[in-house]
Amino acid sequence: MRLILLGPPGAGKGTQAERLVQAYGIVQLSTGDMLREAAAERTPEGLKAHEIMARGELVPDAMVVAIVTHRIEQPDCRNGFILDGFPRTVAQAEALDLLMKERGQGIDAAIEIKVDEQVLLQRVETRVKEMTARGETLRADDNPESLSKRLVAYRAQTMPLSAYYATKGLLYTVDGMGSIDDVAAAIAAVLPTPVPGKFGRRSRT
Ligand code: AMP
Repeated sequence: MRLILLGPPGAGKGTQAERLVQAYGIVQLSTGDMLREAAAERTPEGLKAHEIMARGELVPDAMVVAIVTHRIEQPDCRNGFILDGFPRTVAQAEALDLLMKERGQGIDAAIEIKVDEQVLLQRVETRVKEMTARGETLRADDNPESLSKRLVAYRAQTMPLSAYYATKGLLYTVDGMGSIDDVAAAIAAVLPTPVPGKFGRRSRT
């Protein structure tokens, strides 16, 4: 199973990816997490990415494509993966297609989680208040200003991917406004039922 999760920032892609990891025994590849790790390690690329991420903009395609290419080649991706936050531009989607072709593989489904942007903004405002009250550290881009910019980037650069995958017959759109369980059920309904031993890591020979 090789899946793509599409949806605006804050739609719950990460949470749903974790559920799919459990169900299918495949790995979650979050480019946001990979970039934050690079930033924490203070590599030159990581520091550059950190500034861009804090502004709510997208890091250059070449940087994320290189990271994903390297990651997909690791042995734990052999049984499949869930791309969470990648691709985010048509150029990234084309690079992924090429990568898959070179590896003789393909994407099984692109699942788009649809949510109301106004609700996302309300959620981030509440989270900022609650976390600040508890004295917790927020992500540099977890505030209403950055979220607004990330939504602009999403609309301009990522939303065209819905049509891109629809044309390939791979797009499945689910309502992301329900509970975590409801959204997980909606996603499960469009995917093949996990068969123990078929998709799981244990199937490795
Ligand atoms: P996320 O954790 O997926 O919300 O990503 C956080 C931030 O990392 C985004 O706002 C972008 O700045 C950057 N980022 C993550 N994935 C990508 C990607 N595929 N292309 C460009 N920038 C990305």
